[in-house]
Amino acid sequence: MENPNFILTVEDLSVSFDGFKAVDGLSFYIEPNECRVIIGPNGAGKTTVLDLICGRTRATAGSIEFKGAELTRMREDQIVHAGVGRKFQTPSVYEDLTVFENLEISYPRGHTVFGALTFRRDGDVDARIREVAETIFLGDFLQERAAILSHGQKQWLEIGMLLIQDPQLMMLDEPVAGMSVAERKKTAELLNRIIRDRAVIVIEHDMGFVADIATRVTVMHQGKRLSEGSMAHVQADPKVVEVYLGH
Ligand code: ADP
Repeated sequence: MENPNFILTVEDLSVSFDGFKAVDGLSFYIEPNECRVIIGPNGAGKTTVLDLICGRTRATAGSIEFKGAELTRMREDQIVHAGVGRKFQTPSVYEDLTVFENLEISYPRGHTVFGALTFRRDGDVDARIREVAETIFLGDFLQERAAILSHGQKQWLEIGMLLIQDPQLMMLDEPVAGMSVAERKKTAELLNRIIRDRAVIVIEHDMGFVADIATRVTVMHQGKRLSEGSMAHVQADPKVVEVYLGH
């Protein structure tokens, strides 16, 4: 289905591991500026979907179209270059570097042209780093080493390291795991800011947090889409209730 309103079109996507269908004929569509939350029981195939979109896992069948490009035929680095950013569950910031330096090394300075790395000299890099640091609530921590940050602040820094690359689609795997209540609230605020300029896909278990951030929710079960719609819609869906009560 080609629809200019969608930034991402996932059609009949499947992947099998040794005959086991982890994702089984899944279709969903993402609009720009939406925050889609994927929920579902453990083993439903949520992480595998993100792995497929970012090129870490190869699809057995189906297609993933992002802004007109077929991602299933692209390498992981090409997918990043096309504008898809992924953050994993555990923060992986450079502990010995400052917040500023972590953001600076993530800034997309160079790109390959006929095999040679070209560097963009941009006087606005500092301003952009400061802007991103403010967005992720770390404006006052620019010169601090990442090692001194709380777990939640490290998660934000990692989101900032993605944000500075300006991806049009950002994917986050359980971004509030291990965060305090106050940090969760601020992360919801952060995501609501982030989607002004891009689409986001989030895997999440914390239903209170899902309610704060989701534009739409996709419920997965056994590799398939079980239900989709607003939080209120999926929560009232008898199929969803059955799956959750069954666990
Ligand atoms: P979720 O994120 O919803 O908990 P996953 O996507 O991690 O689910 O996993 C879905 C299923 O696929 C699980 O049964 C898991 O064991 C299996 N799986 C995922 N990745 C692999 C892999 N690389 N090799 C074999 N099995 C895998």
